[in-house]
Amino acid sequence: SRASVAFVGLGNMGTPMAERLVAAGHEVIGFDLAEAARERLQRAGGRTAATAAEAAAQADLVILMLPNSGVVEAVTIGDGGVLAAVRPGTLFIDMSSSEPLRTRALAEAVAAGGARLIDAPVSGGVKGAVAGTLTIMVGGAEADLAEARGVLEVLGKPALVGPVGAGHALKAINNLMSAAHLWVTSEAMLTGIAFGLDPSVMLDAINTSSGRSGSTQLKWPNFIVGESYDSGFGLGLMLKDMRIATGLAESLGVPHTLSDRAVEHWSTADAELGQGADHTEVAKWLRQQGRA
Ligand code: NAD
Repeated sequence: SRASVAFVGLGNMGTPMAERLVAAGHEVIGFDLAEAARERLQRAGGRTAATAAEAAAQADLVILMLPNSGVVEAVTIGDGGVLAAVRPGTLFIDMSSSEPLRTRALAEAVAAGGARLIDAPVSGGVKGAVAGTLTIMVGGAEADLAEARGVLEVLGKPALVGPVGAGHALKAINNLMSAAHLWVTSEAMLTGIAFGLDPSVMLDAINTSSGRSGSTQLKWPNFIVGESYDSGFGLGLMLKDMRIATGLAESLGVPHTLSDRAVEHWSTADAELGQGADHTEVAKWLRQQGRA
């Protein structure tokens, strides 16, 4: 059935996701601070509002696809926030990669305000957002997922992974692994290249061998070999996710020594590559550190 969806955060991920919902026949009312992002959604047939609260006021569902927990909290329960504007019982779906413990607290604040919140972060990148093939890791009540399922299935494959916050925990854990893989894969690939091996010969062999990962199957072939570095996932966002995961390990008393080294390396690259760098540029940065 046709849902009325407020979509807040029309960036690299939010734009193609909102466009899919429009194409599937849902009523989408979008908001982003960036005017260019709002205009892009209008051209795709979506409506836009002047504020997030205005977008959410008439919606059944409020999807948030924002940078981090700080922004999600400000938009939801900050001054002029969305919570005060929605109809009672409105379902919030935080699809951003936020911090699980802050998500739990936010869900309580949202419940106290008479609404509901589930977390539903995604994996699959901009390509997956465009194709509607995202992995969607849902934390929350089964009944809430049932209500959101029709809309989420336009974007990818939703699966309930636990109570509120569980999706955000799992997403951060996935990205810590993904980032550590990309770093070691890049050091290893550059070693092979310096030895004289052809990168595509290496990737073909590795992709049917035990060294394979998303970094060898997707990131190196699509964004690094051809030096386009245009995955659409910012380096700073990846670093945020790594810190969420190592923070969880620390607070739960789980060892995280190699993970901490990965965070250090990624922070150095982040500082040197500067704002706006794509996360795949760590491979370019590593190449520049070498003698070759
Ligand atoms: P992005 O930086 O491209 O988009 C974020 C958008 O939020 C921007 O358009 C920005 O203008 C908007 N925004 C910021 N503050 C706002 C506010 N107060 N009100 C309204 N809009 C505001 O980021 P993205 O790549 O789309 O990622 C969004 C989230 O999804 C992040 O948490 C990220 O970690 C996660 N994620 C990204 C990818 C990817 O491949 N890009 C994949 C999976 C998950």
